[in-house]
Amino acid sequence: MTRAAAPGAATAYANARATMVRRLREQGIHDEDVLAALAAVPRHLFVEEALVWRAYDDTALPLGSAQTISQPFVVARMIEILLDRRGGLGKTLEIGAGCGYQAAVLAQLTSEVYAVERIASLLALAKVNLRKAGSQSRVRFKYADGQLGLPEAAPFDTVIVAAAAPRVPPALLQQLALGGRMLLPLGAGEQRLTLIERRAEAYLETRLDGVRFVPLLSGLE
Ligand code: SAH
Repeated sequence: MTRAAAPGAATAYANARATMVRRLREQGIHDEDVLAALAAVPRHLFVEEALVWRAYDDTALPLGSAQTISQPFVVARMIEILLDRRGGLGKTLEIGAGCGYQAAVLAQLTSEVYAVERIASLLALAKVNLRKAGSQSRVRFKYADGQLGLPEAAPFDTVIVAAAAPRVPPALLQQLALGGRMLLPLGAGEQRLTLIERRAEAYLETRLDGVRFVPLLSGLE
């Protein structure tokens, strides 16, 4: 009976994922590489068992520790912005690994992902989830306060921040490679996705979509 049920569930998840990707396309995600990456990651492996049936809804879901797994549209939109007119993401730093979902999507697009998380239990969960999803070899996890970046692996071609800060952490600016791009939700009350590009002469800042993220916090838990 278990053997008969398993392929059925796998097909149902694959269908739900295909529907999710079709909706992302309708909502304006155009980058085929980004859509393929979201199509390849089994999001149901990253959500709590009781919420598995909602894994492919385009919604944020609770992760535990008062954190949420990012909404698929926001993950897709952020990566699309970061990729825009570039060959690839290159060496990528993610701040706020949470359950590891976005790290797994990033790992579909680049071979070098560093993911930092300040809550130990979530970091452990992210590691288990990545192993279940089969993408652990491309992601290196670090238990640290991401506001300090990851100096030992810098500079980064891409920095993606999954929690909102009132202003850009200076360490993240310093650790961005020349020609690199960082995207983060910026603002204390109202938040906006903000793209920062490091040019030879200056950092170029572009304010984009209004968003709603959990706050970027200090220290470890
Ligand atoms: N990327 C996750 C989203 C996680 S929500 C996903 O794919 O679903 C944001 C995460 O940022 C939370 O897990 C939170 O603990 C973490 N976070 C907040 N402040 C942080 C900091 N200073 N350093 C590292 N992680 C941080």
